[in-house]
Amino acid sequence: MTELTAHAEPCTVEIDAVGHFLDSRQRIIITIDGPAGTGKSSVARDLAHRLSLDFLDTGAMYRAATALAIDLGVDLSDEDAVADTVRSADLRFEWTTDPPTLYAFGRPIMHRLRQPDVSARVSPVSSLAAVRKVLVERQRRIGEVHQRLVSEGRDQGSVVFYDADVKFYLDASPRVRAARRAEQLRRMGQPADLDAIEREITDRDRRDSTRAVGPLTCPDDAVRVDTSDLDQAGVVESLVRLVMARV
Ligand code: C5P
Repeated sequence: MTELTAHAEPCTVEIDAVGHFLDSRQRIIITIDGPAGTGKSSVARDLAHRLSLDFLDTGAMYRAATALAIDLGVDLSDEDAVADTVRSADLRFEWTTDPPTLYAFGRPIMHRLRQPDVSARVSPVSSLAAVRKVLVERQRRIGEVHQRLVSEGRDQGSVVFYDADVKFYLDASPRVRAARRAEQLRRMGQPADLDAIEREITDRDRRDSTRAVGPLTCPDDAVRVDTSDLDQAGVVESLVRLVMARV
């Protein structure tokens, strides 16, 4: 807990008391933004479990847009063509699975999302304004239907759910994030060059935070958490307490 505030930067609040329990009918939108490798997805999913909220992985939607464009031979630099493809794919989540299964053109697309060609191209695709417009609208519609939600991405607290009840921004040093990614790859039996991964992460951060539309940024009213020296359980525990104290 103290570590959490020790790493805190300007947009931080103090963790104090555990408040009342969440009312199961209460609308509550929690956003978690931050760069790759901060443990955002796992933390967001665990937090959603702990609080009985739905979990929205918006990175999956940008990955799906990229996979669809690649597989249908759409020019990835033609933003209107990519946006039209995404619109006609009618991206939908099936909420009965954990995590929710993403469908495009009525078929599951989860198997494509983390393949190397998609990971390599998702950042430029997600900087296309027309694509972001389609996906931001879709995410807001999901938020209207699923009013008890933990939504994770890059622009969830700054753009999509700027009026969210609680906003978090997770961060960690590029070296720590690269080491986590390398460990994941080694566990999957794949080679991992730590320096190359760190360079790739730093590049992706730069592209994500300097793009004109929906850049990666820490909203002023977000709680910033540096996860470099924290394990996942510790981060989730701290976030649960903060949410309880806030709502
Ligand atoms: O979170 P994940 O690594 O799956 O996201 C993949 C990519 O999608 C990110 O690198 C970023 O470029 C993009 N993204 C985005 N806005 C979001 C979520 C993801 O631009 N809300």
